[in-house]
Amino acid sequence: MATYHLLEKRNEPGLVSLIIPCYNEEEVIPFLKKELNVFLDSLACPWEVILINDGSSDKTIELLVEWCKQDNRIKTISFSRNFGHQIAVTAGLDACKGDAIVILDADLQDPPQVIHKMIAKYREGYDVVYGQREERTGESAFKRFTAWAFYRLMRSLVHKDLPLDAGDFRLLSRQFLEELRQMREMHRYLRGMGTWVGFSQTPVKYKRAPRAAGQTKYPLNKMLKFAWTAAVSFSPLPMRLSLAVGTIVAGFGFCVGIYAVVRSIIHFFFNPPGFTYNPGWATLVTLICLIGGMILVSIGILGEYIGRIYEEIKDRPLYIVKLRKNL
Ligand code: UDP
Ligand code: MG
Repeated sequence: MATYHLLEKRNEPGLVSLIIPCYNEEEVIPFLKKELNVFLDSLACPWEVILINDGSSDKTIELLVEWCKQDNRIKTISFSRNFGHQIAVTAGLDACKGDAIVILDADLQDPPQVIHKMIAKYREGYDVVYGQREERTGESAFKRFTAWAFYRLMRSLVHKDLPLDAGDFRLLSRQFLEELRQMREMHRYLRGMGTWVGFSQTPVKYKRAPRAAGQTKYPLNKMLKFAWTAAVSFSPLPMRLSLAVGTIVAGFGFCVGIYAVVRSIIHFFFNPPGFTYNPGWATLVTLICLIGGMILVSIGILGEYIGRIYEEIKDRPLYIVKLRKNL
């Protein structure tokens, strides 16, 4: 059951921070700039925009620095290399000063106008207002299907309260952010972490627009890696699964063993005419393959967890900043 929260009305936020990760987005930035200028003018409160250049290999950083020169409320953090979307967002969350913080994609798939609705919910007293996709236009059937399957799978693995069809496009209150900031794990799945933190969360429905320009920076392999991180960092289920399959295989092996013993007893003591004794080669090979395979899978899954423990225990910084502008 969802926790019941007392909602206390808030004033207009004293400062709104927009956090926008950018990875190879030189084609998108001119559109983003235009769209954001319109939106920011319509905001009733002061704002800052934090753009994170996640080790792009194109000229994204040049465009961002140029933009920073025009307005000191536009701020840039540039990484020393590509650290990935979740880490880029984290850097923005660490640097922002706002009372209300909004995370959005650079490619304008998350329409800035929705932020007005989010702020209205924030003023009602909610701590997290997440954008929930009503419909995806301009995305392939394959992308839509994988995204659909992804959210359902994550819900069963990560947390039953994980909102469906919600990405990282969301507004966070300062109080919520302070709690989230304490979580410094390397393998990050911010949505799952946000569900763990709790507080009052509410959706705002929106239509996800097609990309303004350029290509997706989340190809299938990155998406699978992301799903794997979400599953393994949040749930002991893969480990339990290997235990379950191991038990089934062991049970099967036990039955085959009994069958083989019974057959050899029949062969040695009764030797009925026409009884062909199977020397057991096939049985052995089958069992060795089954059990060997199962052990390898289990070790692999264990290794995955131990690898993660190893990486967390090194306690490295989550990202390295090469350059800051207006910060
Ligand atoms: N992104 C990033 N680092 C990465 C990959 C993506 O900062 O390694 C950014 C990207 O620039 C965009 C956002 O994350 O602002 C979402 O990526 P994209 O739009 O390519 O993903 P999709 O919407 O297709 O899932
Ligand atoms: Mg996108």
